[in-house]
Amino acid sequence: MTTPANSATDTDHKPSNFLRQIIEADIAQGTYANRRWAGTPGDAAHHAKGNPDPAKIRTRFPPEPNGYLHVGHAKSICINFGLARDYGGVCHLRFDDTNPEKEDTEYVNSILDAVHWLGFSWEANGLLHQYQASDYFDFMYAAAERLIEAGHAYVDEQSAEEMRINRGDFGKPGVNSPFRARSASDNLARFRDMRAGNLADGAAVLRAKIDMTSPNINMRDPAIYRIRRATHHNTGDAWCIYPMYTFAHPIEDALEQITHSICTLEFEDQRPFYDWLMERLCEKTTLHDGRVVDGLLAAPAPKQYEFARLNLTYVITSKRKLAQLVNEKKVSGWDDPRMPTIVGLRRRGYTPESLQLFAERIGVTKSDSWIDYSTLEGCLREDLETKAHRAMAVLNPVKLVLTNWDEVMGPGHIEPCEQPALPHKNDETDNSATPVRHFTIGKEVWIEREDFEEVPPKGYKRLFPGNKVRLKGGYVIECAGCVKDASGNITQIEATVIPDTKSGTPGSATVKASTAITWVAVNDGLGAEVRMYDRLFNDPQPDAGGKDFLAVLNPESLKVITAYVEPSLANSTAGQHFQFERHGYFVADRIDHAPGKLVFNRITGLKDTWGK
Ligand code: ATP
Ligand code: MG
Repeated sequence: MTTPANSATDTDHKPSNFLRQIIEADIAQGTYANRRWAGTPGDAAHHAKGNPDPAKIRTRFPPEPNGYLHVGHAKSICINFGLARDYGGVCHLRFDDTNPEKEDTEYVNSILDAVHWLGFSWEANGLLHQYQASDYFDFMYAAAERLIEAGHAYVDEQSAEEMRINRGDFGKPGVNSPFRARSASDNLARFRDMRAGNLADGAAVLRAKIDMTSPNINMRDPAIYRIRRATHHNTGDAWCIYPMYTFAHPIEDALEQITHSICTLEFEDQRPFYDWLMERLCEKTTLHDGRVVDGLLAAPAPKQYEFARLNLTYVITSKRKLAQLVNEKKVSGWDDPRMPTIVGLRRRGYTPESLQLFAERIGVTKSDSWIDYSTLEGCLREDLETKAHRAMAVLNPVKLVLTNWDEVMGPGHIEPCEQPALPHKNDETDNSATPVRHFTIGKEVWIEREDFEEVPPKGYKRLFPGNKVRLKGGYVIECAGCVKDASGNITQIEATVIPDTKSGTPGSATVKASTAITWVAVNDGLGAEVRMYDRLFNDPQPDAGGKDFLAVLNPESLKVITAYVEPSLANSTAGQHFQFERHGYFVADRIDHAPGKLVFNRITGLKDTWGK
């Protein structure tokens, strides 16, 4: 990325969407203009001591550190960090780790890595905006006590079964709990009992007191704290009660002074509770003992907005199912180049720029839809078209012998050749020299098996007896025929070279060739392992409607072949991208590629050929 994260406002060339319109309206109306920011997350009193917030907006990306991020998270990262960058804001990276037992530093590190690699930074105004929700447990506890003291929450000791039945359903209003009318001071004492460990797991929950007849079931006195004796990776055994996600998340947002809390559509029904909670915690309140207190959290409160999650054809994004692919060894690991994880996409050869382009292209909408996998491939091609050096590689080699070579070129002669590495530098202001690839040609070269036909089908332009083709960047040759083994398999192609027709020399146009084919000289071609990746599934919606995604694995999703590549690739470095002419885009494998052991992954073909 050329623009550093969080640089100046830059919205000119970006297509608008409903989130941008909301943010632009908020900035124009000064909705968040008077907020203060104390430099660290905290409650209203804490931020009141701070300076005016230098960030025009604050967004956040809040992954649960319980797995590797995937292409859907990449969309969310690009949205949240992208909006902050474009509108002079800051995006926080928040580990949403309020749920005990499920954390792992391996995941934390992989998430930090993924966000950075995608081109974003949580550093802004000299601060690192990396937070973890479990650091806020004290605040959340205080918020719960505040709700109790204001009469907005109660400890319910019904059994789980009673609570389920009394919640009602879509057609049936709920029934008030017999514990709902408890006094605030009784509730406070009971909640402190919960916290002190005087009650067994599951014996009680703290519930918000809203409306058991609400048509929105999420508003029927949702649970906000539960008892759970579990060791937390950050807070150890300090707590035996933990906040529920729907209670914790808005408080995390408010403590961090988030302005626009952007999440996926399945949280739409939670928005009324989000707003209810924020209103209760930001307003001046009269407590049960008559004290009047200021709002606990700073106003104006953050607001939640929902967008459609990414559904990509031929891809599954459920962490649980991805874990199953890894655990059952259907793939080599989380970074298998066929995985839709960010580490997998990276190893496959996808670039940060291509993923950012993809996020921009698919846009932000309010309704669920499926994005075709070819859209992602198209973004990669678009990014690499002008960036990836060209090279010739022969993936299915057969030897071609130029039978008159020694006679017309000189015995054992080796002729140097060259071709541009970037033939279409499309930036006319770029005056840098075009990089050049050097290779040679001699008596024997490798060509693709499919480039010879003894009896050519109609319209075939490549090698068949009597036809002339150009060896790209080399000479025009005339095909003579082939040599076969005892079982009739073609073992060698034979042709004659036409001298003085070398590419780039005056004689190159004197003989007409019907087409040009790619090749690599036997004398300087390098053996390489090429991993031909394809889609992991044969079904465009592998797990839709409870389908067994393991039954639609594509058995051809990986073919490992030995190819010959041109000598310019001898010094290729791990992670470097290439366009192998006519074959597509490839990357030197990040892990296994080394000088003397060339390993390339196919990212995608040159054009969309799936199913054609
Ligand atoms: P999963 O369901 O795969 O476990 P998750 O939503 O539980 O994913 P989180 O770590 O909670 O994973 O996600 C962090 C952020 O990424 C959330 O804000 C979530 O909305 C967003 N996100 C997750 N999956 C997608 C997706 N497919 N498209 C867009 N955003 C997504
Ligand atoms: Mg989640």
